[in-house]
Amino acid sequence: MSFASLGLSAPLVISIAAQQYEKPYPVQQQAIPAILKGRDVLGIAQTGSGKTAGFVLPILELFQKTEPSRNRFVKALILVPTRELAAQVKDVVHTFSADLPRKVKTLAVYGGVSINPQMKQLQGTDVLVATPGRLLDLVESKAVHLSQVEVLVLDEADKMLNLGFKEEMDKIFSLLPAKRQSILFSATLSTDVQSINERLLHNPVIVQI
Ligand code: AMP
Repeated sequence: MSFASLGLSAPLVISIAAQQYEKPYPVQQQAIPAILKGRDVLGIAQTGSGKTAGFVLPILELFQKTEPSRNRFVKALILVPTRELAAQVKDVVHTFSADLPRKVKTLAVYGGVSINPQMKQLQGTDVLVATPGRLLDLVESKAVHLSQVEVLVLDEADKMLNLGFKEEMDKIFSLLPAKRQSILFSATLSTDVQSINERLLHNPVIVQI
């Protein structure tokens, strides 16, 4: 089993080899082909499983065939519970996209730091990694628009809910276009996570490892 056999093309396979990933982890073997087909994915996976590359790689592959983001209309939104995770996920996107033919601009936004630099950097961002509260502040300031989001990822959804972000998440969901791909990763399938799954995902491929 190789990354190429999952449907990833040469430029990404080269970036993956540069990271010394020899073969896809189980979560990647299941999630990557499903996301490449445009399917929604519900993944029950822990940190350390390789879930981040499991959604980042196929999103980058899909974006190779699309136009860059216009202005402040982000194309992929990755919602995460914490600033640390936002920075980590953004680094993974950055690492794998550095040498691709179609440049992908990524940015992490989170609270606890000044909002102004984030506002300035949002211009032309394709893949936005965000914590819910700061994202809503940026939306309210019109620094970012969610109406052209093509792919939504909820990473560590159970932790996001445990940290009390439910209301912010619901508001964000109400701003997204109906036609989009949705990917939900969570360590546990709690009642609240199950309810988000039922509301947001359409006939998801279930990835459980
Ligand atoms: P994650 O669960 O996404 O936080 O990933 C856990 C760690 O596994 C990270 O340090 C990744 O760089 C690493 N990793 C992810 N996929 C692979 C792979 N296929 N081969 C080797 N290392 C990997």
